Amino acid sequence: MMAEFDGKVTGNREWPPFRPKALKTAEHFMEASPETDEKWMRIALVEAERARKAGEVPVGAVIVREGEFLAGGGNSQISLNDPCAHAEILAIRAAAAAVGNYRLAGTTLYVTLEPCIMCAGAILHARIERLVFGAADPKGGAAVSLYRLFEDRRLNHAVAVTEGVLREVCAEILSGFFREKRLIGPS
Ligand code: ZN
Repeated sequence: MMAEFDGKVTGNREWPPFRPKALKTAEHFMEASPETDEKWMRIALVEAERARKAGEVPVGAVIVREGEFLAGGGNSQISLNDPCAHAEILAIRAAAAAVGNYRLAGTTLYVTLEPCIMCAGAILHARIERLVFGAADPKGGAAVSLYRLFEDRRLNHAVAVTEGVLREVCAEILSGFFREKRLIGPS
C-alpha cells in the first residue's frame, strides 16, 4: 500500500510524515495515509475549480481535523480586492471561526499549490500540524522551493510537510488556466 505512494515526503523525511507529538490516536494515522491525503486533495481541487470559474488563479485549500472537514477556501484576491485572499488564508480564517479558536492544533491543511511566504506564516501562526500540497511553486513556494520555512528550527513551531499529492492534476488546473489566459490575450 505504502509503496504505491509516489509523492515525495519532505519535512521529517519519513513515512508516515508526522512528528511523534501528533501521533495521538489511530485517527491521526488514518488521516495521514496516502489514500486519505488524495481524498482531501480532491476536495481542495473542487475549491480550486470554483476559483477558476470565478476567474481567479485556481488554487484551493481545505483544513481537516481527525478525519473531519473543518473549512475550505479558494483563491479570491480579485473578487475580494484583497492581496491576502489566498486559498489557505481563507480556509484558515473559516476553520478558526468554525472551531472558535485562533489556534488550529491537530489540523492538516491540504492545498493544491505549495504555499507562499504569507501563507506559510499564517500556517505557523495557526499552529497547523501538517501541510499537504500538490504542485510545487518554484517561483514563490516557501515550503520546499524558495524557502523551507517549516523546517526552520529558530521558529517555535514545526510543520510536517508532504508534497506531490495529485501533483499532475494540481499543476494542470493551473497551467490550463494560464494557457487559456494567453489565448484570450491581455485584458
Ligand atoms: Zn499564499
